Amino acid sequence: MSEAPAPRSFLDRLFDRGLLIRTGVDGLYGRSGAFESVVEALDRLVSRIGGADGAEVLRFPPGMARASFERSGYLKGFPHLAGTVHSFCGNEADHARLLACLDAGEDWTAKQAATDIVLTPAACYPLYPVAAARGRLPEDGLLFDLQSYCFRHEPSLEPTRMQLFRMREYVRMGTPEQVLAFRELWLQRGTTMMSDLGLPLAIDPANDPFFGRAGKMLANNQRAQALKFELNVPVNSEDKPTACLSFNYHQDHFGTTWGIHQADGSVAHTACVGFGLERITLALLRHHGLDLDAWPAEVRAQLFG
Ligand code: ATP
Ligand code: ZN
Ligand code: MG
Repeated sequence: MSEAPAPRSFLDRLFDRGLLIRTGVDGLYGRSGAFESVVEALDRLVSRIGGADGAEVLRFPPGMARASFERSGYLKGFPHLAGTVHSFCGNEADHARLLACLDAGEDWTAKQAATDIVLTPAACYPLYPVAAARGRLPEDGLLFDLQSYCFRHEPSLEPTRMQLFRMREYVRMGTPEQVLAFRELWLQRGTTMMSDLGLPLAIDPANDPFFGRAGKMLANNQRAQALKFELNVPVNSEDKPTACLSFNYHQDHFGTTWGIHQADGSVAHTACVGFGLERITLALLRHHGLDLDAWPAEVRAQLFG
């Protein structure tokens, strides 16, 4: 008697369809042309929505200067997520040992040393030192448009939690009033954008996954001060919806860390809105089906019209 096949998970169905491509590592996937067409359409849609604001477009590679990363404070909050780039720095004898270890299936990384590059953890991280180097902000502050592949060491079987994924961001720098107005505007725009894409959603207070016991306090504080909101869509499950957009008020954290100053000399405040491009794509695939051609006409018109 043959047993009924176990139901395929969402991730398996994405593999079956070739929308995501296995690499053997959880959270590290190739993407099909169809998947990429949605990512690109979302990127364009965000640009259309934010286009009239006159943001300065900057693109950085998915690695950032280790010195900037160290200064950013990321290792205080999220040592467990960081990814560093190491390279072989040995001599010929070390090379021979490396190959011998490889052959024997032993650890070959002994002569790997940290380079000057770390993987970018969020699209806005490379921006702050660049903005600081320009001197004081103009009276009406600054607005940037960013997109980057980001790395976070959080392997998972949920397709929405990747180790390498793209984050589109707008970042505002200025007075507290300016940056809070920016965040409010994008809370509204993000909600409209996602409901126009036919996705069920909720805006919820949130916190970053700060490391350790001290991190609990940071997380509570972030919630108590309403510094972070997420736009959640059920993708993997109804009870644990997935953050597809996030709206972050950093207060003067990056302004102080990097010495970014307002026109009057006081420390700048910053905020960012982040769009998880793969997560929104996966939310669309979940709700409208794995066949893009069969998506509702209104949704297709928004994306590909
Ligand atoms: P989560 O609580 O789900 O881990 P987060 O708070 O870490 O999300 P942010 O740091 O605010 O997320 O990142 C901005 C956006 O980037 C998120 O709203 C999400 O859409 C996307 N994102 C974050 N982590 C991942 C990931 N591991 N894989 C895919 N997209 C991600
Ligand atoms: Zn950001
Ligand atoms: Mg996270």
